[in-house]
Amino acid sequence: MNYEHFKHKISNTKNSSTTQTENTQKNIFLVNMNKEEEWNYSELVQKWIKKTLNNKWRVAIIVNKKGYSSGVICKSCGTIPQCRNCSVSISYHKLASGEKIGLCHICKSQYILPSHCESCNGDVVQEYGQGIQQVAERCEQHFKTKTAIIETKTANSPKKIEKIKEAVNDCQIIVATSLLNMPMQNIAFDLIVFLDADIGLNIPDYNANKHNFHFLYDTFINHQTKNFIVQTRNPYQESIRYACKLDYQGFTTFDNVFKQQYNYPPFADLAIIMYKDEIEQKLFNKVDTLYKELLYLKEKYQMKDLEIYSTPPLIYKIFGKYRYNIILKGQKTRDFMDIVYSKLNLQKKGFKIDRVAESIV
Ligand SMILES: [Zn+2]
Ligand SMILES: [Zn+2]
Repeated sequence: MNYEHFKHKISNTKNSSTTQTENTQKNIFLVNMNKEEEWNYSELVQKWIKKTLNNKWRVAIIVNKKGYSSGVICKSCGTIPQCRNCSVSISYHKLASGEKIGLCHICKSQYILPSHCESCNGDVVQEYGQGIQQVAERCEQHFKTKTAIIETKTANSPKKIEKIKEAVNDCQIIVATSLLNMPMQNIAFDLIVFLDADIGLNIPDYNANKHNFHFLYDTFINHQTKNFIVQTRNPYQESIRYACKLDYQGFTTFDNVFKQQYNYPPFADLAIIMYKDEIEQKLFNKVDTLYKELLYLKEKYQMKDLEIYSTPPLIYKIFGKYRYNIILKGQKTRDFMDIVYSKLNLQKKGFKIDRVAESIV
């Protein structure tokens, strides 16, 4: 079998003035996509969506990716065009007219959909990565039914939320971002599908597991929905598994062991010093000099357990500026930062300091 079935008995107190409770069952199916033939939709998901539609019920599909596609790739040389100001791929959005435009999600620069590769001039450039618009479009074609999209852009004001509610009432398939981990008033779903539960795991951050766990767990808990399907290529990954087991305590214990072992908050302090500049060489020089000064101070004040290393952030360049981080981690980071503060005059030199960093990316 390509999936596991986690059954949970949930008691809901029916009425707060009485102690009457109702027992319901939540079914969470975890599908191993490595064993599936189709890339995006498992057999189980297709079967359940059909069943839900036949019963005139409503399904929500959660896709944590905006727009139509993640980018384009050249089939000859593999080039993926990036934004000219930021080191991220240009993603594509479909306009109401049907035309597609390229958009940088950081600086909002717009681009046209290329017909040729900018590096090798090859003429086979293909879109990759299904965004929320594409999932909605494919569902309409495949299941022959209308869909509605819920994302920040369509739900960022009370007026827009009212409009969405009208649209949702007309549709059996709703495609949404993680915005839906909180239920919308008066809108219930009979089935919630996570198309790709692994998306959040690609971020190299010490809190990535925690965020991914909550992305799933909060949705399971906050909705009255009985049936959930989670598609993954990592069915044994802890954040996914503990969430499907509704095991909050188990996950917290696992996450704490990891954070304690690698000296991350809350078991140690974490500070980040960032520098950014339009000129890469200047950035390297500045960061290198500071790094050496910090190592000198560490030695001088005998901060033995303090780790200091320099690394580019997840997105190296944004709004035309290159960025580099120096990460400081250890039991007495805060004391050390006080010393650094008075000795090195970092702000005057253009460094940005985050003394209690919640993320290393
Ligand atoms: Zn090319
Ligand atoms: Zn940009």
